[in-house]
Amino acid sequence: MKKEKYYPPEHLKGQFNCPHCDVYAKQSWAYIQAQGYMSLGNASYRSIENSLSKFQEMLNEEWTISRCEHCKNIIIWFGGNILYPKKLMVELPNDDLLDDIKKDYLEAATIFNDSPRASAAILRLALQKACKQLGEKGDNINDDIKNFVKKGLNEEVQKSLDTLRIIGNNAVHPGEINIEEKPELVLKLFKLINFIAEKMLTEPKEIKDIYEELPDNAKEQIIKRDKQK
Ligand SMILES: [Zn+2]
Repeated sequence: MKKEKYYPPEHLKGQFNCPHCDVYAKQSWAYIQAQGYMSLGNASYRSIENSLSKFQEMLNEEWTISRCEHCKNIIIWFGGNILYPKKLMVELPNDDLLDDIKKDYLEAATIFNDSPRASAAILRLALQKACKQLGEKGDNINDDIKNFVKKGLNEEVQKSLDTLRIIGNNAVHPGEINIEEKPELVLKLFKLINFIAEKMLTEPKEIKDIYEELPDNAKEQIIKRDKQK
């Protein structure tokens, strides 16, 4: 199945993938007016407590709001950042990653809307920790990947690791890839971390579990067979 391209929400864009319904939909835009007095509003509004002092003001132009034409839900912006909804735009981290790495992953996901660059920098840290979990030193990702390749790492996983490494490095020391201009690249990094975890942690574990279920004499025969030349 071909996955449709994902266009992350962008300030003052006419359409993007809505953070509420995920549909690529048209967005309508408006400035925000603070309304403290019932007499001016629609009667269906809940009254702000009578004893409170109120104010009414047109907020400055940093405050904007967009509404998705598909689900009719609103997004509240301050400058170029989304204040509401605060929602993870990525899948949850692979469960076989260590808790510390899952925490980094979720933190990177939470701040993605505000700063794709900071998000990528945290993912790079998560990758470093993942290399450690996978038995390497975790000091130098490049060396770790080299060692994985020596141990017979599959090519897709190696490419995923290198992609994460290079984009992550660009987040920390700005280089040829401008992450602010390509936030969708960072969203893909989340997928890559999970792909690496799936291939290097989950799948080997599942295969080992099934193998353990084999009867002992069958396993002994396999060992015998492999000893024969
Ligand atoms: Zn929507």
